[in-house]
Amino acid sequence: MNTFTLIKKDGTQIKTPYTVVDGVEMITGHFSRAEFDTGHEKNALFFEPSLLLLEHVRIKAGVPIEGSSGFRSSIKQKLIWNQYLADCKAQKIKPIPGTVANPEKPFPHGTGAAFDLFRPENMALANFIYLFRGSCRELNLPLCRIGWKDYANQPQIYRHSFIHVDLVFMLYTPYTEISNPHPTYWKAGVEW
Ligand SMILES: [Zn+2]
Repeated sequence: MNTFTLIKKDGTQIKTPYTVVDGVEMITGHFSRAEFDTGHEKNALFFEPSLLLLEHVRIKAGVPIEGSSGFRSSIKQKLIWNQYLADCKAQKIKPIPGTVANPEKPFPHGTGAAFDLFRPENMALANFIYLFRGSCRELNLPLCRIGWKDYANQPQIYRHSFIHVDLVFMLYTPYTEISNPHPTYWKAGVEW
């Protein structure tokens, strides 16, 4: 399928074709479908405010930022969940709640508002995180959620340093009429 569903800030959804540039399907000016449509069992969803944030950060960074994950179907999330449990078992460590979302419940990457991004090689982790916080302020967005502690400091499980960024809470009350399935964790500024 060469279209994705773009979810606007007010929750309306629009079928949108990927923009093809030199044979590559693009979602924004700098990020491709291959980076963010990571679960091909169904049409990918992408939340427009998250895409605006990523593009703003990319332009401010001035260097390539590689995406490692974006939209995931529940089938894909289940594969990642099972792999995580297997990795933990192999290394005899306990799964850390929240490190990988359980596919049985609503999970961030299933909403289209969550993205994982590799840290650019020559950028300190703190600067990378700061770029996202600053960009939220500049774009008048509520502060995004950022996951890094469980990913950037666990090389035994994750070979690459990446951060998770999302605006998943904006899809629910008080931003829309839909009730938030995880009000304790899905709120502005949460960091883990
Ligand atoms: Zn993530």
